[in-house]
Amino acid sequence: MPKLKFPQSQKVVQQIKHYMPGGVHYNFRYSGKETIIPFNKGKGSRVWDLDGNEHLDLFCKFGALIVGHCNEEYNARLNDYTTKVLSVDQCDLEGLVCEKIIHHVPSAEMVRFGLSGTESIQNAIRLARAYTGKPKFVRFQGHYHGNADNIMGGKPLSADYPAPVDYEGDFLGTDGRAPNILQDQSFLLPWNDSVALEKLLSERASEIGVVIMEPICINGGGILPVPGYLEKVRELCDRYNVVLIFDEVITGFRVALGGAQSQLGVTPDITVFGKALAGGSLPMSAIVGKKEIMQLYVDQKVIHAGTFNGYPLGLAAVLATIELIENDVSCYERMGNYLLQIGQSLVDAAKNVGMPMVVQGVPNVLIFHSQETPVSSPGDYNDTTKLRDILITRICKDYGIQFSKISRFYSNLMMNDTDVSFFQERIQEAIAESQRISGIF
Ligand code: PMP
Repeated sequence: MPKLKFPQSQKVVQQIKHYMPGGVHYNFRYSGKETIIPFNKGKGSRVWDLDGNEHLDLFCKFGALIVGHCNEEYNARLNDYTTKVLSVDQCDLEGLVCEKIIHHVPSAEMVRFGLSGTESIQNAIRLARAYTGKPKFVRFQGHYHGNADNIMGGKPLSADYPAPVDYEGDFLGTDGRAPNILQDQSFLLPWNDSVALEKLLSERASEIGVVIMEPICINGGGILPVPGYLEKVRELCDRYNVVLIFDEVITGFRVALGGAQSQLGVTPDITVFGKALAGGSLPMSAIVGKKEIMQLYVDQKVIHAGTFNGYPLGLAAVLATIELIENDVSCYERMGNYLLQIGQSLVDAAKNVGMPMVVQGVPNVLIFHSQETPVSSPGDYNDTTKLRDILITRICKDYGIQFSKISRFYSNLMMNDTDVSFFQERIQEAIAESQRISGIF
């Protein structure tokens, strides 16, 4: 397949760069050089750019888009609701939507809605601090919980005092951060290491009220918890009066309607959902948890606010997403199979040109790494591999394959056989070019 050309897109992008910093809506330190491609049409797993080129969308809006583009049933449900009411504080959907979430998610006894993952994580931490009366939280290397000052980047000061500090060259480091906020609020530990957690909690339980983690570490490279780890974390949190928060912003609804927790068999005290919760085209997040913790909202002890919290169209989108998935009983298996075939084709293409390549993760969230062996700990997912993965992601765009940032790829309900063949027809040349350009593989 020849490389795509984007003259019209590039013209538009040059223009918007005058108005939008970098011509984009977000940035991390390792992005900035990629081709920016605006789209004006989507169907299923495909999107079309302003030059009429067709692309396979494995990016799925950072994993949020689980229903697929222009999913007719989903869109019809949203259109229907637009004729009812769009801008009120409460509508007729709260009860039904909450009941569905509570039915599916093991940790959900009560539900509060928000808009973004970042915001609901911060609110969940506030809630947990209030519940335990203890100010600090523990997070883990390679896990990402949004772009707030207190929770992004850094590295532990020392093994004995693992408070995170800013360091030169941190991809997630940022100028303008409130001084000392990382070390004042949190500790940063290696994940999958219950000894490290036990040591820290035994020494500092009086100041630590919260442990937060991705139950499957997608942001650290697609790593599963080792057997027994989550159970041990649960036990330690109970022993030391610490609230356990699972950040299921990626895994929620994508791995299962009950989230990763429903598969892993360990129930946190609070869970945060985002991204795929509302299907992928409307922003919705949720904090769900135990009644006695959520009671702090009822008692007005903890503030949770937001102008658009629980907006009707967002609730309609959550309900539509849940029902689409409920009515499509084998959807996770079907989507997962397509994605695994795509992953295998990538590995085969790399093998053909002698490039190291592994694909890991869970069936509906896969991640590739251009290295010989799977990433086994988030700390091992080093910046060199990340940069190589980003280069491949970038080059694939020129061949009509859209991966997500940092080499992730996601499925959607509308995925089919033709998506696999579309990928297979393009990936070999894209990988051969990546190999040629990099010269470092
Ligand atoms: N938690 C996780 C695990 C995430 O991956 C993300 C976003 N990538 C967030 C939280 C933040 O969500 P948002 O971008 O909606 O603020």
